Amino acid sequence: MTDYKNLIDGEMVDNGEWLEVLNPANEQVVGRVPAAGKDELDRAVAAARRAFKSWKKTSHEERQQVVQGIAAAIKENADELFRLLTTEQGKPHAQAQQEIYGAAGLAAAQSTLTLDDVVNQDDDTRLSRTRRVPVGVVGGIVPWNFPIMMAIQKIVPALVAGCTIVLKPSPFTPLTTLRIAELIKDVVPAGTVNIITGEDTLGPLITGHPDIDKITFTGSTATGKKIMEGAAGDLKRITLELGGNDASIVLPDADVQKVAEQLFWSSFSNAGQVCIAAKRIYIHEDIYDDLSKAIAEYAKTVVVGDGSQQGTGVGPIQNKKQYERVLELIQDAKDNGYKFLTGGDKDPSGTGYYVPITILDNPPEDARIVAEEQFGPVMPLMKFESVDEVIERANNSEYGLAGAVWTKDTDKGVEIAEQLETGTVWINEFMQLSPFAPFGGHKQSGFGAEYGIDGLKEFTYPQVITVKRDAAV
Ligand code: NAD
Repeated sequence: MTDYKNLIDGEMVDNGEWLEVLNPANEQVVGRVPAAGKDELDRAVAAARRAFKSWKKTSHEERQQVVQGIAAAIKENADELFRLLTTEQGKPHAQAQQEIYGAAGLAAAQSTLTLDDVVNQDDDTRLSRTRRVPVGVVGGIVPWNFPIMMAIQKIVPALVAGCTIVLKPSPFTPLTTLRIAELIKDVVPAGTVNIITGEDTLGPLITGHPDIDKITFTGSTATGKKIMEGAAGDLKRITLELGGNDASIVLPDADVQKVAEQLFWSSFSNAGQVCIAAKRIYIHEDIYDDLSKAIAEYAKTVVVGDGSQQGTGVGPIQNKKQYERVLELIQDAKDNGYKFLTGGDKDPSGTGYYVPITILDNPPEDARIVAEEQFGPVMPLMKFESVDEVIERANNSEYGLAGAVWTKDTDKGVEIAEQLETGTVWINEFMQLSPFAPFGGHKQSGFGAEYGIDGLKEFTYPQVITVKRDAAV
């Protein structure tokens, strides 16, 4: 077991109080991190405020160099990092590797983003231009499903925009983030990036802190609402990436054998603990029997187990609370007599938070497993008759994160996509995010956006400067 330290003002520090972190595959303690509280937060915020004075004046090239240094540090240590990530998060090695390399790639790509001045008026009367100025000190709060990707997608745009940041990982998955903190300690100027760990109770201290100017948060919709309230006191800027209940729509012309495996992974990657996982799959009645059978057959070839073991396709649920919630949803489906194509039958006792791959056969629209975000390896397949009907069913949700349409007729796919009330819709693929395209939720899936220029702008204020050219002075 290793002790990991917090990064505050360029130093790795602890306060002698510790939180234990478990491996969800075997419930063994794998590391300890500082249980930081108000004192550590105050020190981190003060360091970020001091660093902001000079960081906001740096050139784009200087910022880019620092961010590329972060990308390089992650890439050079990818082997160690992905193994550690599996140990604390549970995801299979291949998926942990994807997350680590993905985070390095995202940092490198986003280091190239620039916010150039925009000229509003340029004539004999006046020159008016809009420049973007950094908001200041950012508080970043991230969840446990993609701890590294989420940390990087907050740290990097903050730095590129000229802000400094205090980041709080989830108490369930802080180890890899703190190891990265150690690796980048001398890459980033002291105080620009601070990473502190603590219980959930550290979160409200961040959102309410009077010297933090902006909160960028990824997590559940319930917590997102509390953040909005907490940030209201001094009108902090906020970006919220929240929950989803993404619908996939499969039209009758889709090739059953070709889409079965892709649909499976669109739901079961990271054991279904993905905000943009397909959480409801609507299949046209003409191909429903064949496709549901093909997905269930494929599911039987996928091994559920310890993510560090070769051959594992689906790891454990990341933590006990989420594990119990997923089991509760399966029990609810059983109690209501819904049909299972696979799963739902294994005794969940024993060590590790394993849930068998579970696929439900056409449960009703008001079933909890359809209406709620399951965030686990349980997928409902539903039959539909007409496109109008399925669009209405897909949109019948308080969430609006993403969705997908599967069809050979891509024009038809786009026509359907344009009627879905979500921030992203994929045609014939899933979970593809571009560092250059805005990612954000409609309705209760979010507020604002991350990624791309739109995401970068959220770390800035617009400032308009006008020069009167024909002034009588
Ligand atoms: P969570 O909301 O429980 O916790 C997220 C973070 O918020 C953690 O760091 C936690 O310590 C902190 N926190 C908890 N209470 C807080 C409070 N009152 N004030 C401030 N911070 C607080 O979410 P989770 O269970 O870690 O993650 C799962 C959820 O995240 C799912 O709903 C999922 O859909 C969502 N998610 C969304 C996206 C996206 O980009 N839209 C991505 C990943 C996960």
